[in-house]
Amino acid sequence: MRLHRYSRPKETALSVPDKPAPDETLPNPLPEPLRFHSPAPLVDIGANLTHESFTHDIDATLARARAAGVETLILTGTDREHAEQAVALCQAHEGLYATAGIHPHQASEWGPELEAAMAELHQKPQVVAVGECGLDFNRNFSTPAEQERAFEAQLALAAESGLPLFLHERDAGARMRDILGAWRDDISRAVIHCFTADRETLHGYLDLDLHIGLTGWICDERRGHHLRDLVGDIAANRLMVETDCPYLLPRNLPAKLKGRRHEPALLPWIVREIAHWRGESEAELAASSTATARAFFDIKES
Ligand SMILES: [Zn+2]
Repeated sequence: MRLHRYSRPKETALSVPDKPAPDETLPNPLPEPLRFHSPAPLVDIGANLTHESFTHDIDATLARARAAGVETLILTGTDREHAEQAVALCQAHEGLYATAGIHPHQASEWGPELEAAMAELHQKPQVVAVGECGLDFNRNFSTPAEQERAFEAQLALAAESGLPLFLHERDAGARMRDILGAWRDDISRAVIHCFTADRETLHGYLDLDLHIGLTGWICDERRGHHLRDLVGDIAANRLMVETDCPYLLPRNLPAKLKGRRHEPALLPWIVREIAHWRGESEAELAASSTATARAFFDIKES
């Protein structure tokens, strides 16, 4: 998800250090009550770490993620520029992987040149999925026709490369199911990231043998509580977890976070909430979601 309410905190421009500090001395802006170590290693399958809000403290952000037990991160590549930046981050840091795709908001930019650039990115060893791509009929920053064209082209790229798909869908569940149904035999695995829809849509996706990515949306009493009754319907080997940071700061945190920027170190709080509503332990969900993510993205255990 992009262009969410998150906005860059004003003070970030002033806090850029002259040079990166060594890891041990990196500032930790997480209040003590928010530092929570996962009982088992986690994979954050959706982190927008190329967002400008992370530019000034990417090393500290990754160090906090590790300290919280979030050992592997899949960086979301939402357009050519961000996918290339994500690959560069993967080359500079261990435990990072990237997706490469064109978000439905930018679907109007799709054309032969972009298609060739994407196909090239998909060959890189750091790139483990095609996406973020899909349909967003909520905001229609690109027209539905433009979105479907770019989406179908990226489905074709996924079919050619054999890579799994990292999918975005908002208010377009029926159309998404139709299109994916037609492509299902040609593509490998696909995850609906940041699933927020209703039971009927969920079961439509599960019937297509898709994976489901869950964010902290379930912690939002204003719009996400319907997910509490649904998350138990997802088999453990189809469920993965993600922050979608810096967006979607979970609303179950026990302390206020200055700047309200979401980050991978907070993923254990999301796991805690989902595990509660599934009636399982955090350790069980941490272990199963990590095993599912490693299999989905074909990542060997480090
Ligand atoms: Zn998205």
